Amino acid sequence: MQGALLKPKKLGLAMSHTQEALVQSAQAHLYQNYRQPPLVFVRGDGAELWDASGKRYLDLFAGIAVSTLGHAHPRLVRAIAEQAGKLIHLSNYFYNEPNILLAEKLCALARMDRAFFCNSGTEAIEACLKLARRHFFAAGEVKRHRVIAFENSFHGRTLGALAATGQAKYREGFGPMGGVSHVPYGDMARVREAMGDDVAAILVEPIQGEGGVLPAPPGFLKELRALTTQTGSLLILDEVQTGVGRSGRFLACEHEDIRPDVVALAKALGGGVPIGAMLCTKAFEGALPAGTHGSTFGGNPLASAAALAVLDALTEDKLMERAAVLGQHLTQGLRAIAERHPKQVEQVRGRGLLQAMVLREGYEARQVLGPLKDVGVLLTAAGDRALRFSPPLVISEALLDEGMGKIEQVIGALA
Ligand SMILES: *Cc1c(COP(=O)(O)O)cnc(C)c1O
Repeated sequence: MQGALLKPKKLGLAMSHTQEALVQSAQAHLYQNYRQPPLVFVRGDGAELWDASGKRYLDLFAGIAVSTLGHAHPRLVRAIAEQAGKLIHLSNYFYNEPNILLAEKLCALARMDRAFFCNSGTEAIEACLKLARRHFFAAGEVKRHRVIAFENSFHGRTLGALAATGQAKYREGFGPMGGVSHVPYGDMARVREAMGDDVAAILVEPIQGEGGVLPAPPGFLKELRALTTQTGSLLILDEVQTGVGRSGRFLACEHEDIRPDVVALAKALGGGVPIGAMLCTKAFEGALPAGTHGSTFGGNPLASAAALAVLDALTEDKLMERAAVLGQHLTQGLRAIAERHPKQVEQVRGRGLLQAMVLREGYEARQVLGPLKDVGVLLTAAGDRALRFSPPLVISEALLDEGMGKIEQVIGALA
């Protein structure tokens, strides 16, 4: 199979191969660190996708909560094409216009003061952790570097973000890692026990995404805010999955009416173009002075123009309000399915357009993804038993209903 798709005479021409040939080549050449089914996607439009055989699918996962504007959104396509024709990359040796406009808009939407840009969620978390440590270093409190994070959390896959991630399946085999105390999510007494004068920050997801779409118990974030304010440690919110409108508000922590010191964003921010951000309040603007942190690609003109188009669409097309309204529709629909199939479904939880249908013990969410794909619905599993819904915010009610109808068929047919 080696190189079979790359016949020299075809190079440079628009290539179009059969799904089978592409899958064979993928299996021969791609690193096998994913569990990809034998499908190759070639095109999308809104919340619909097509594979190389021409089969249509409903996209109810949006590339893991990324494709907020769906696929081939005219505004995003135009912004990327126009920016590509002007300036794609520059490095951070110089300012670029889309990046400045993006920083201004993002700070306004998130009610934060400063933005640092990178290329992924894990990098945004690294920036948050480095800012926290560097802040106390600059203050002469060099022993203050421990982080409190939560069991069942997910913060990314670099060694720093992985050290904060509270799930063995991601960490196993990559140790040693340190500097982080993990306590049960939602357990304020255990947080207080773990607190000490060496704690630089508490890092928390407002809804544990990968962990199974688990919202923080009401009041928990407020208590974390109060404790960190009292002890002088930083409250870092990981809104990589929940942020940029998906919950119905720009940041999910707004539902709890708190303002973090530092927040990490990524996934939805670029609508599919890789970009991450660390935002902080004015108090921490000096923690990472020139030369202490950076990124070659971070905030480049192309990614910034894409993110700016996403934020413009979000505000002008009222997509956050839409996420809240459609989220209620989704909750009602999923709850109705749960009531009709109590043997298979345990509960429905989440917020806005980030929700989960949790299957009963004995079922695995991942085992349902195949049958769903066969009937043309794309979803992801989060945790062992949660089917995660994170559709594009632009999805129509009709497509959402079509998806739920097909899901009910599959759930109902589970033994
Ligand atoms: C996805 C995710 C990350 C990591 O983002 P990458 O872009 O995959 O590096 C970090 N935190 C949370 C909450 C996430 O959902």
